Amino acid sequence: MPNQEVFSWLRTRFFPHIWCPGCGHGIIMHALLRALVTLKKKKSQTVIASGIGCSSRMAGYIDACTVHTTHGRSLGFATGIKLAKPELTVIDVMGDGDCTAIGGNHFIHACRRNIDITAIVMNNNIYGMTGGQASPTTPAGSMATTTPYGVIDPSFDICKLAEGAGAAYVARSTIANPKQTEQFILNGIQKKGFSVVEILTHCHTTFGRKNNRRTPIDNVNYFKNNSVPLAKAKDMSPEELAGKIVTGEFVNKDVPEYTDQYLALIENVRGK
Ligand code: SF4
Ligand code: MG
Repeated sequence: MPNQEVFSWLRTRFFPHIWCPGCGHGIIMHALLRALVTLKKKKSQTVIASGIGCSSRMAGYIDACTVHTTHGRSLGFATGIKLAKPELTVIDVMGDGDCTAIGGNHFIHACRRNIDITAIVMNNNIYGMTGGQASPTTPAGSMATTTPYGVIDPSFDICKLAEGAGAAYVARSTIANPKQTEQFILNGIQKKGFSVVEILTHCHTTFGRKNNRRTPIDNVNYFKNNSVPLAKAKDMSPEELAGKIVTGEFVNKDVPEYTDQYLALIENVRGK
């Protein structure tokens, strides 16, 4: 794929970006842009919504129809856009705190409704932008600025949460596997329904430094050494899977999509 085509989706006047050198978020943005180019999407028909946080700055760098909204509420904005113009491709990029803490209710209800939006959850297990506070996905026992003696809360499994709430497509990858990340994002966009693609990424400046993963390379190696493909994980015991990152496609099902039902309802009411 020509890089020129991928780079044409960037608002280069907003560069250099604010992400720290070595942050994993750029790998995810590149994977998303490659998926959009592969799918021959038009900028004028593609919406990127985001909330607040380092991950959510992505909306500002992409040259499409973008909306950088309030913390945890981007799915509300994205839902409104999709209902008003169902023909648009709507993608929502968010971080782990944005998705599962402040925006937790928006997330589970978007999964339940099964509206045709692709949610890209950039999970670095921490609130990176504000200095490394524990989030709902910070693993128990980890160090964070708000938990100097270690986290005691059990963490959310975002994919299980999405599956339990009814999402049509659920997958997980890591930034150590950019091709898989790109493929899952592409599959999520193609899926008619609510798609959740969780990508494990890293914040080496906060979470990494407090947890013996000081450099981006440490983090990439951590993901490489601790990822287990779903097919292999099925044969492993809970003890063997402790601390591992299971990657793969967990859900890919056909269920009625929300905007279709909404438009059918309008037609039905008009006909009465
Ligand atoms: Fe990335 Fe962390 Fe820097 Fe934010 S603070 S840009 S998440 S490395
Ligand atoms: Mg985060």
